[in-house]
Amino acid sequence: MILEQTGKICDGLYGTGYHFIPAFLLTSPAPVLFDAGVAAMGPRYLSDIGTILGSTDALHYLLLTHSHYDHCGAAPFLKKKIPALRIGAESHAADVLQKPSAVQLMRALNDNFAHVFSDVIGTDYIPFDPVVVDVILKEGDEPDLGGGWSVRVLETPGHTRDSLSYYIPRIKALIAGEAGGVFHNGCIQPEFSSSYSDYVTSLEKMAALDVEVLALAHQRILTGEDAGAYLKDSLSATVFFKTRIEEYLDRFNGDREKTVEAIAAEDYDDTVQMQQDKKSFLLNLEAKVRVVADGR
Ligand SMILES: [Zn+2]
Repeated sequence: MILEQTGKICDGLYGTGYHFIPAFLLTSPAPVLFDAGVAAMGPRYLSDIGTILGSTDALHYLLLTHSHYDHCGAAPFLKKKIPALRIGAESHAADVLQKPSAVQLMRALNDNFAHVFSDVIGTDYIPFDPVVVDVILKEGDEPDLGGGWSVRVLETPGHTRDSLSYYIPRIKALIAGEAGGVFHNGCIQPEFSSSYSDYVTSLEKMAALDVEVLALAHQRILTGEDAGAYLKDSLSATVFFKTRIEEYLDRFNGDREKTVEAIAAEDYDDTVQMQQDKKSFLLNLEAKVRVVADGR
């Protein structure tokens, strides 16, 4: 089954916020929020958490999939509102979230998002600030969440070097983050912005799991057979996209800028509502073209 909405996904797992940038809430005895979208959506995540858990203070962990602005944007806001919240991320992400130049860029991207989508998410200004990571996570960590619940940490680099995915054995749910690719304009958009080979290895690692519920970083949640099929399709889409970049690089004698322009002209449709804003789309595409060009 394919879900394109927030709300209850299965027993214990909910989507909060908006389906195009959801934060997933696990209602285990020690409740966990996976990712924290963009800053401007902070109040909406908080209100959904309060409704589902009965009290926002009950939230125990915020576990981040990676240090991009649209996945940790509301972390500072949530930490301010829930002071006992324990934030977990990979060690490089912990550094990035404290680094002044990275924080400045993430604040600018969050502000840009809030500006572009103000008609949907409102006009309250929520700034992005540095984030202190309380728990450094690595492959194989499995925090006990009480009552037979736990979450297994998978290192899934390739989109970023700090990418983590989270598997919840009790409900066979995988919170993939962008390591699983992004559903964009009816297709799977591969996201190997830091390493192509790591990205493929990470997808293979996830495809080997027994997954009943696959929570993607944006737009879609897949269950049953659709979940397993998606990860295989994501692998094929990745190989295909790399070939496409190589073909354009050849056509333009290795010119990366022209390659980015040509692919953006084909893949980015300004008329589609609630998609990734163009600035971030181009930043991501430039990184993928760089990864392929450097690897030749
Ligand atoms: Zn990302």
